Amino acid sequence: MISSEHSREQHPRMLKDFAISIVRTLREHGHQAYLVGGCVRDLLLGREPADYDVTTSASPNEVMQIFPETYAVGAQFGVVLVPLPASPQAAPSGQSAHGNAVEVATFRSDIGYSDGRHPDQIRFSGDPAEDVARRDFTINGLLLDPMTGEVLDLVGGRDDLNAGVIRTIGDPARRFSEDKLRMLRAVRFAARFGYTIEPGTFSAIQSLAPMIHQVSRERVRDELTKMLTEGHARRAFLLLDDVGLLRELLPEIEAMKGVEQPPQFHPEGDVFVHTLMLLDKLPHPCAATLAWGALLHDVGKPPTFRVAPDRIRFDGHVAVGVKMAEEICRRLHFSNADTAQILALVENHMRFADAPRMKDSTFKRFIRMPGFEQHLALHRMDCESSHGDLSSYNFTLQKMASIPPEVMRPAPLITGDDLIALGHSPGPRFKEVLAAVEDEQLEGRLADREQAVEFVRCHFSANPASRK
Ligand code: ATP
Ligand code: MG
Repeated sequence: MISSEHSREQHPRMLKDFAISIVRTLREHGHQAYLVGGCVRDLLLGREPADYDVTTSASPNEVMQIFPETYAVGAQFGVVLVPLPASPQAAPSGQSAHGNAVEVATFRSDIGYSDGRHPDQIRFSGDPAEDVARRDFTINGLLLDPMTGEVLDLVGGRDDLNAGVIRTIGDPARRFSEDKLRMLRAVRFAARFGYTIEPGTFSAIQSLAPMIHQVSRERVRDELTKMLTEGHARRAFLLLDDVGLLRELLPEIEAMKGVEQPPQFHPEGDVFVHTLMLLDKLPHPCAATLAWGALLHDVGKPPTFRVAPDRIRFDGHVAVGVKMAEEICRRLHFSNADTAQILALVENHMRFADAPRMKDSTFKRFIRMPGFEQHLALHRMDCESSHGDLSSYNFTLQKMASIPPEVMRPAPLITGDDLIALGHSPGPRFKEVLAAVEDEQLEGRLADREQAVEFVRCHFSANPASRK
């Protein structure tokens, strides 16, 4: 969401300068103001913050009066978005303006969390200490005065940052009971930074893990997706398992533990070990569907495990896996488009081995699958996480490179109008006939319209009712 006016390199610098200018302006109007949260943590770590948050004693109304353009996205929580000036992509609704805007939030404390995910009430405050106390972890509770560079640390966040520790602000059991999502955030930050989770914080998560179901499925899905795509997915999933959240959220993945595989194909170990190896190989950045496809590609193995006379077998694991993956996507409220792609990845992951024997038309249809680069990437990771044999992968790449685009995806030789002209009545069989023509075309057996018309004449009678 970077405006076309600002290059990718300029953008972070501009957003940072803009956040600082907001702090300055608020102070010029007599308010307290600081940078806060993840951006302070990241600046101290020398990392590029994903976004900037400002916290202030000014009320949302005051913030909206001071800045010419604002969006009251979360006014009930005291949150106002201030977009970068002249950023055309700051949408009027403010909905998609986050990447180009600074979040300005009024100091507040959150009161009562009867649903385990949202405060019942909030109270604005004049004291930054109260605002910090409502935040989740000490490393996310630092305030920065960008004018002097002074860090205001009211919660021991600097020590935890130096020691690499994730620790709740205040009593962990109380803080996780308030908002169960924080348990997933703890795992995500620990994985991202390679930190440990402080023992009290860790055991509170272990005790409260069964309550994670109070969090909306969308938020669970989004947290898991971040863990999968942020670059440390293996670490995140090992931690999820350690704290008992994996069993709650994805028991199908936990079930992979200890499921042995035939050593000649899988010298690496059991299905869980293999899946974690794939997670370790995910690219960064990574498409969410590829990450979930990698996580779920062998999900059908535990229920199909069988010790046959010759070796361990998982007959039908792909079909079973597709069903299970569908249930998981449904449970986590994935969009239809994402679900379709994740299921396609699971369904097709074993087909690369057949590539050298595929008919040309089958091969072309195979590599024309939407997002084929994700299928390729998954297959490569699958091989590299097991036997290491990349011959099917290389065969597919070479054959793909040898097929010109117009041969791969040729213009149709005939259309439905031609079928009507041939005396066929429109209906579901049209698709079947046109697919058969395309197959012949992809096999290189039909070169032009006349040949296609002749093919239809010979193989498909105009009146299907008479074809018995
Ligand atoms: P990221 O780098 O992933 O953006 P972040 O720490 O900036 O990490 P945000 O979700 O952007 O996380 O939230 C900004 C700040 O708001 C956090 O640093 C933290 O202080 C506070 N915060 C966010 N979510 C919660 C929560 N569920 N409970 C308490 N405080 C939270
Ligand atoms: Mg952030």
